[in-house]
Amino acid sequence: MNTEKPVPDDALADLHRDTLAVRAAVERSQYGENSEALYLTSGYVQPSAEAAARRFAGDEEGFTYGRYGNPTVASLEQRLAALEGAEACMSTASGMSAILLMCMGLLKAGDHVICSHSMFGSTIKLIGTDLAKFGVESSFVSQTDVNAWKSAIKPSTRLLFAETPTNPLTDVCDIRALADVAHNAGALLCVDNCFATPALQRPIALGSDIVMHSGTKYLDGQGRVMAGALCASQALVIKSFLPIMKSAGMTLAPFNAWVVLKGLETLDIRMQAQSARAMALAQWLQAHPAVARVHYPGLTSHPQHELAMAQQSGCGGAVLSFEVKAADADQGRQRAFHVLDAMQMLSLSTNLGDTKTLVAHPASTSHGRLTEVQRQLAGVSQGLIRVAVGLEHITDIQTDLDRGLSSI
Ligand SMILES: *Cc1c(COP(=O)(O)O)cnc(C)c1O
Repeated sequence: MNTEKPVPDDALADLHRDTLAVRAAVERSQYGENSEALYLTSGYVQPSAEAAARRFAGDEEGFTYGRYGNPTVASLEQRLAALEGAEACMSTASGMSAILLMCMGLLKAGDHVICSHSMFGSTIKLIGTDLAKFGVESSFVSQTDVNAWKSAIKPSTRLLFAETPTNPLTDVCDIRALADVAHNAGALLCVDNCFATPALQRPIALGSDIVMHSGTKYLDGQGRVMAGALCASQALVIKSFLPIMKSAGMTLAPFNAWVVLKGLETLDIRMQAQSARAMALAQWLQAHPAVARVHYPGLTSHPQHELAMAQQSGCGGAVLSFEVKAADADQGRQRAFHVLDAMQMLSLSTNLGDTKTLVAHPASTSHGRLTEVQRQLAGVSQGLIRVAVGLEHITDIQTDLDRGLSSI
């Protein structure tokens, strides 16, 4: 492969983020293709036995085996690292495998992790239940109360793991404050940046040590592939994550890496356009007689509105949730189901981060595996509906939601 770089590495530092999204990490082959090449190969031919030995020993750069690395995957990692302002990045097959890789790389039996109650459902399950089998301890605290995170610190605390804004209530936590709590305790902070993406929020600049992504969401942005990533220092990626990747193999497929790499090119304009629609929809829902409450960081009624605006480039993001008016949980569930089943265009889907608006009932789907107590702590009521706003015209989105809302 000809490694001629259209933009030399040392010139990249001066470029704006929108430029990096389309120009960082382009490795052209001898054919001079303008769009990034897709290298579908599981193995690599070695130039000599000596070179192969050096590469396997880590003394020389060069690809050896698909589980360890791939040029297309490396391009995605470099571009995402550039957007997050991180030294390095390691991509994975899904967002959950990125969390597993991080935990396997950083924790051993007896170590302690602190997360918030309102993390992604599978994250609570993985850290609170599955890793507990291997002796990893965990505490779950209030998303927004920094003192609760501080009080949960133990001598064995190695990692604080936060998600902001959260799914589905869009609770916001103070990244800089949590970074201080972690560092004062000799622990690391990881932020799941799935909802805001580097287009709106860059946790590393606020003191976070690791940024975790589900590339399945906004990074791909068009609902096509699964992907995940960890952005961090070179030292963490090389010393803590790479050895686990080599032995455990949660490797991102080159095709999926290529799809996400191209998705990054439009990330910023998609996030801006989808957030503008989410803001308009939040205001419309707030004024709707059938709606009890709207959760959206862009609204001044949101409890952490000011923090969110400061931390997220003045933007609320593309996800909101709302509660239908109801007398009790049973009626809430019945009315939420009525709204979902009355839709004719919007997609009833638990995914998010698509150009198509996706609407879901968290209590019976994404948060369905949680116990009733966990679900209440996460604030997920039976009348709650989540909307991941896409790129349709705002009037069409409102009309489709209004079919059910106005006939409750
Ligand atoms: C989807 C999601 C994940 C998990 O990612 P997968 O790609 O589905 O494995 C983690 N965190 C958040 C906030 C998510 O929305």
